[in-house]
Amino acid sequence: MKIIPINERQCAGCTKCCDGWLTGVAHGHQFRPGRPCHYVGTSGCTIYEQRPENPCVVFKCEWLTNYDLPEWFKPSESNVICTKRVAGDIVYLEVIEAGQQIDSSILAWLVAWCLDHGINLRVQVKGSLRSFGSQRFLDALNPPAPVSTPEADATTQGESNG
Ligand code: SF4
Ligand code: SF4
Repeated sequence: MKIIPINERQCAGCTKCCDGWLTGVAHGHQFRPGRPCHYVGTSGCTIYEQRPENPCVVFKCEWLTNYDLPEWFKPSESNVICTKRVAGDIVYLEVIEAGQQIDSSILAWLVAWCLDHGINLRVQVKGSLRSFGSQRFLDALNPPAPVSTPEADATTQGESNG
């Protein structure tokens, strides 16, 4: 039996994940930053009953399911979309600007909330991604370049000449 919270959150009034801030394909039509989904209308999905299982039915933004996030964080109000992601074995939250640059008060709250709860965060600020969290998380996003040694260089040189 599924227990449904009395105030279960709904997408109603929000189409942010269809509006061209995320990337996906619906029935062969790609949507991506700058290109909304082919099927999105002014009041939502125009093919709701026939929308594809993946990504449309399975996708749920973090606000929809994580009740620790405040009501005002709903994408249609906050103009950011939060999703759970994985880098290697590390879970983190990714927050993407959706319609305008992230509001400074939302950014400040988000960074403080994630730090307080030990949550790794990747957030888009004026179009650029910034990361906050553990050193393991930061390393997973940006693995160090391989160390170049004279021996390795010589081997590479030899191979390229060979
Ligand atoms: S961004 Fe979240 S709340 Fe908005 S339509 Fe998509 S899943 Fe629903
Ligand atoms: S098919 Fe419908 S639910 Fe899926 S991305 Fe397009 S508008 Fe959104």
